[in-house]
Amino acid sequence: MSDNVIDGKVVAQEVRDRVKGEVEEFIASGGPQPGLATILVGDDPASQVYVRNKHEKSREAGMQSFNHTLPSDTTQDEIADLIVQLNEDDSVHGILLQLPVPDHLDSDPLIALIDPLKDVDGLTPTNAGLLALGKPGMVPATPSGCMDLLRAADTPLEGAEAVVIGRSILVGKPMHQLLLAANATVTQCHSRTRDLAGHCRRADVIVAAVGVPKLVKGDWVKEGATVIDVGMNRTDEGLVGDVDFDSVAPRARAITPVPGGVGQMTIAMLLVNTLEAARRQAGVAAAR
Ligand code: NAP
Repeated sequence: MSDNVIDGKVVAQEVRDRVKGEVEEFIASGGPQPGLATILVGDDPASQVYVRNKHEKSREAGMQSFNHTLPSDTTQDEIADLIVQLNEDDSVHGILLQLPVPDHLDSDPLIALIDPLKDVDGLTPTNAGLLALGKPGMVPATPSGCMDLLRAADTPLEGAEAVVIGRSILVGKPMHQLLLAANATVTQCHSRTRDLAGHCRRADVIVAAVGVPKLVKGDWVKEGATVIDVGMNRTDEGLVGDVDFDSVAPRARAITPVPGGVGQMTIAMLLVNTLEAARRQAGVAAAR
């Protein structure tokens, strides 16, 4: 791996090791074993793999994990009932509804039902609002992981020009808030942005969360920029990001690969959030 490639595997392993140690300390100090519950509706193969990995890694970190796999014809009310039940279950500290849900379901009201203290995906209106207000809350795992990768690469953010491509509630919007909180000057681009390449060319930091394979080209990127590629696109040539790695890497100060970059961090930060949720529910002051 060349010097400017940020190794998400290494950073994620460090985070998971840290969480494992902190879980041991938390339990030794009388805290409950943190518990993560996932709800998976239907049989989407990619979602099944993500959920399986979440359980494997949470157990490795010393947490309990509870998997609720429901048939694809499960009704909105049945899922709502399960969420209410998990909200009341003291052994569950984090609840995650795996997205996307089948078309007949509306995920927004289901997410809104999750107790904000157990909302380890940071997607409830309460946690999204807290982030927008700059107050402590649960931060979505993927953008939180991107911030750790930027730190791992010693990326200066104070006063930096940052461009976020994408404005989803899962990645783009929280990413904007986190960069703003780090005192970057943030431009948020999306599908209606005029001259996307022109915005990118000004950027010291680019975060691409789009879902379009290899959208960001080498000649869009300023020499010395840091480029974080959130994209995970399954194509004939395998898993590729939103950044054309081969043309961008030679110009970048630092860049994440796909795979082996941001994807590694998402589960690690989910574990951070689950431990944080257990601490808050136990009335222990937030650690971050
Ligand atoms: P999303 O909800 O589909 O949002 C995509 C965003 O990209 C939208 O805001 C859209 O703009 C914008 N966009 C689409 N085409 C564009 C274009 N040609 N130029 C500029 N902007 C464009 O996707 P998401 O959930 O944020 O995910 C984005 C990517 O990250 C996907 O590849 C996904 O698989 C990946 N992802 C990876 C992880 C991980 O752990 N590594 C986690 C989550 C997501 P509009 O708002 O105008 O439609």
